[in-house]
This record gives sequence, C-alpha cells and structure tokens, in this order.
Amino acid sequence: MVSVIIAFFVLHWYLAAVSQTFFLHRYSAHGLFTMSKFWERVFYFLAFVFQGSSFLNPRAYAVMHRMHHAYSDTDKDPHSPRFFNEVFSLMWHTKQVYQDIVYRDGPVERRFDKNFPEWPVLDFIADSSVIRIFWGFSYVIFYYFFAPSPWFYLLLPIHFVMGPVHGALVNWCGHKYGYRNYDLEDDSTNAFAVDLFCLGECFQNNHHKFPSRANFATRPLEFDATYRVIKFFKTLGIIKMKRVNKEDEDTAWCES
Ligand SMILES: [Zn+2]
Ligand SMILES: [Zn+2]
Repeated sequence: MVSVIIAFFVLHWYLAAVSQTFFLHRYSAHGLFTMSKFWERVFYFLAFVFQGSSFLNPRAYAVMHRMHHAYSDTDKDPHSPRFFNEVFSLMWHTKQVYQDIVYRDGPVERRFDKNFPEWPVLDFIADSSVIRIFWGFSYVIFYYFFAPSPWFYLLLPIHFVMGPVHGALVNWCGHKYGYRNYDLEDDSTNAFAVDLFCLGECFQNNHHKFPSRANFATRPLEFDATYRVIKFFKTLGIIKMKRVNKEDEDTAWCES
C-alpha cells in the first residue's frame, strides 16, 4: 500500500531528523538545555531506535560538530562543501573523520572531547554490524510486506543511511545555498526551502552567528520546528534551558 510506505518513510525521516537536531546537535554537542540522567537515557535510546541502522555515536557527533564550529569552512572543518565538487565526496570524507573519532584512530583536541552524554554499552550494541544489519533487514521486511511495487525498494538505501543523509543535506545546503542574515567569515547560509526537511538545521548562518541560541530562527517569517519541540519538553518539565552569558556565546559548548 502506497500510503503505508509513504507514512513509514516520512515517519522514519522526521524521527531520525529530530533525534539528530534535538539530541545530538543541540543537546550533546552544544548543551543548549539540560535534563536528568533518566531523560538523557530515554532520548539516547530513542535516537538509537529512530536512527536505527545509521545510528550516530553522540560523542563522535559532538566532537566533530565542535570542530565544525571552531574551524568552519577551513581545511580543518570536517565537512565543508568548499573543498568538494559534489556531495558524495563530502559524505565520504565526513564518514572517515567520524570513524577516526569513534574508534580513537587519530588525535582529538581535548577541549572538544568532553561534556557529552555517554552510554558505552548502548554505543557498542548500536555500532555492531549485527544490530545495524538487523535494522536494515527490518526495513526490507517492512517494504516486502507493504510496498505496492518493487520500484519502492529504491527508497531503501535512504533508510539504511538516514543519519548521514540528513547530515549531508544540512552540511552541503546550509553552507552553499540560500541567504545570509549575518556576514561571517564562513560560508554558512540559511537554506529556507531545504529546511522543510531538516527541522531548523538549515538555518546554518543564524546558528553560526549565535551557536548558543536554542532557536535557530532569528528573523520574522523564519521558523525553527525543533525549537517548538524544545519549548514543548520544557513546558512538560523534561528539560531546562541553560542560561548563557553573552561573552560565552561562542564557546559555551567547550566550557568545563
Ligand atoms: Zn555549519
Ligand atoms: Zn552547531
């Protein structure tokens, strides 16, 4: 049934995207809000379920993302489109940097390598080939039962690498297309149209200007969907917003 497959695709897309922007980016990398250990584990586990076969390790994500802010669009940036002709080379390079951090194969600046959620057992399970294949197999089984024609199987590769696909979309489009509110030294842009699929992440220019702001929208008519999610969890008492001094604005994520 077409509707079931579309619903499954859309659900997987947005649940994986919100895991990335809410938990990995805004909480793990930037610490824009706080939560209890219990809720941290809940969101950690949900990121594992929603990202499934392409689960991204929160420590590696945080370290890599902090490098991105510190070295935006220089040769030390782990994923700047400035140095690649097309998005697949960028994805491949990012994957290599990411894996070096996960498996501790290269030096990592100490200032980046602290203050992130840790759950070594879940990281180990989520990163094992058996579990990644299990998730991939589950997607195939779902399509086997519900896809109305084999053409729909072409969507499966996106399910397999959903996390990196979201990352590439943001890193490529958010530093290449769209408009700029702030004249920064990096190439960051606000890719408004693409952001319909990225829940606030594509307002890269706003975010590079104010990395400690929970709301990535800074102008009227800009809308950051994940900020609504943050406000919702705050209203429920699940998270607390962090107060950040003006002078800390650029470095809040690497404070001890
Ligand atoms: Zn960026
Ligand atoms: Zn960021």
